[in-house]
Amino acid sequence: MLPNKPRVEHLFVAATSLNGQRFPDWEYHVHSTYSDGSASLSELIQVARVQGIKRLIFTEHTEPELTENGNWFARYWQEIEANRQTEKILQIICGLEVPITDYTGGLLIDKEMLDKVEFLLGAVHAYPGTGAGAAKEPEALIDREFRGLMALAKNPLVDAIAHPGGTCQRLGARFPLALFAEVVQEATRHGVAIELNPAYHAPLAPYLEICCQYHAWISPGSNAHHPEEIGWAAHSLRSLQNKIKC
Ligand SMILES: [Zn+2]
Ligand SMILES: [Zn+2]
Repeated sequence: MLPNKPRVEHLFVAATSLNGQRFPDWEYHVHSTYSDGSASLSELIQVARVQGIKRLIFTEHTEPELTENGNWFARYWQEIEANRQTEKILQIICGLEVPITDYTGGLLIDKEMLDKVEFLLGAVHAYPGTGAGAAKEPEALIDREFRGLMALAKNPLVDAIAHPGGTCQRLGARFPLALFAEVVQEATRHGVAIELNPAYHAPLAPYLEICCQYHAWISPGSNAHHPEEIGWAAHSLRSLQNKIKC
């Protein structure tokens, strides 16, 4: 567990409690110009405030090709801290979206980040160990995605898993719901939340149903790279609340 890691029940909503309560105004997956988002941190905070978001988690990438140069993490951390000093309503959390570097627990994160980060969103982005000659058949992509997600599901540093199945779907192979269900079960056993992300999980209903079936913790992540995308996940989850059985 990270020293700053908030307890899972304070940070996430249990899928099974969705029948009784309105899904909260939270956004847990946002990129600013510190990585590959289009807007500054302060612009995003301003938009979130106007939209009535109550908790905003920034999740900058850690891949160097996607971030600002130099020691951007120190500047990112300091800017979040400065905003927290004056912010009255919106809770702002310093997170990172961290990709796997192998299938056995490796993550692309350095010690300074690990010491400070308050929310670690684990991700399968590029598949580790696959050069130009690697197999690209759907079965091979699905297998790598699944192994990467299962490694995140049991990693004690990880708070939530970003867009499970999303990378392999972007590469053209539909990630089977049965495997998504296995990842959900493994993550839930280890107190790791599942991101439901309308940018990747479309339609969202079957994914939410699986999360309900296995009593998963839900992380509402829109993968927002632009201000207008903030709140998309929470809004999508709310629109399903009375339509599926939890
Ligand atoms: Zn991602
Ligand atoms: Zn992202």
